[in-house]
Amino acid sequence: MSYSAKENRYDSMLYRRSGKSGLKLPEISLGLWHNFGGNDNFNTGRETVLAAFDAGVCHFDLANNYGPPPGSAEVTFGKILKNDLLPYRDEIIVSTKAGYDMWQGPYGEWGSRKYLIASLDASLKRMGLDYVDIFYSHRPDPDTPFEETMTALADIVRRGKALYAGISNYNGEQSAKAVSILRGLGVPCLIHQVSYSMLNRWIEDDLLGVLEKEGTGCICFSPLAQGLLTGRYLDGAIPKGSRASRDGFLKSSSITPELLKKLNALNEIAKEGGRTLSSLAIKWILRDSRITSVLIGASSPAQLKENLSAVSQPVLGADELKKIDSIIR
Ligand code: NDP
Repeated sequence: MSYSAKENRYDSMLYRRSGKSGLKLPEISLGLWHNFGGNDNFNTGRETVLAAFDAGVCHFDLANNYGPPPGSAEVTFGKILKNDLLPYRDEIIVSTKAGYDMWQGPYGEWGSRKYLIASLDASLKRMGLDYVDIFYSHRPDPDTPFEETMTALADIVRRGKALYAGISNYNGEQSAKAVSILRGLGVPCLIHQVSYSMLNRWIEDDLLGVLEKEGTGCICFSPLAQGLLTGRYLDGAIPKGSRASRDGFLKSSSITPELLKKLNALNEIAKEGGRTLSSLAIKWILRDSRITSVLIGASSPAQLKENLSAVSQPVLGADELKKIDSIIR
């Protein structure tokens, strides 16, 4: 059926400026790492993307290697764009990245100019786009000078193949260096994409201060710890079809009795506040104004809807934050 976006799609989402840039992103963005590959159900993926757009989620995050097979999430997204979303292209922020293993040989991963430029061209082709909004170096390359990686990003922006440059998975020191090189090239680093959740707080000490000082935004991936911070595993069972059941990036063996105790304690706090665990986990990240957006995944429109409820919920009170800290510290 042909798609027409909801008239009131911007009524309930909130938007935050990315660092000191002029670009605003929704408090919740949708990532296509899982659930949108060539082996996944296309219709469910399409419904999830369109439900997101209808709810004001105007930022979709991809990477060259998302699938499986690698590249297929961009093909899926390209199909959704072509059939449904292209009339709204100017309302949408599409990001993609290069850094991980994509093709054979010495130019198929990491941070060389050769790889980054070829990879973005291939991503654009798969998505049927002339430009992406944000292009990221997906991980720092220990063997390529940062000057080379950052110059490639800056050139990509100058050529109009991306509107903004970003970095991902750089630590505090590496970020300061990358941001400074980019600034020297006249292309500010828009945003840093990092892992952050109630179960993974490394950025608080190492990175957030650097980003704030530099005026770079921060978008947090795996905010639900790949599903652990939801109702999915609370009773200790591994539901069929869940990410843990596939034993890939989320191992079923990581769901230990100690972790379950923590998750259930967090769930109690969520319930007391009239929230679900997933919306508590998202709202907790949004407590920090240095965070631009929370980058969630969802394998169905129902999951998306539950997660989006975080936006309209009241901010976490001092009491709630204290209780949460006592569990996750
Ligand atoms: P999340 O922590 O949000 O995990 C998403 C998964 O959790 C879903 O696919 C689903 O898994 C489960 N889930 C989500 N909501 C619910 C719910 N309400 N109830 C029950 N289960 C739920 O994020 P991801 O790990 O998927 O990462 C999000 C995005 O971040 C990626 O798509 C990607 O764009 C980006 N990313 C970037 C990285 C980088 O290196 N830059 C690395 C990793 C991710 P299921 O139903 O299958 O169990």
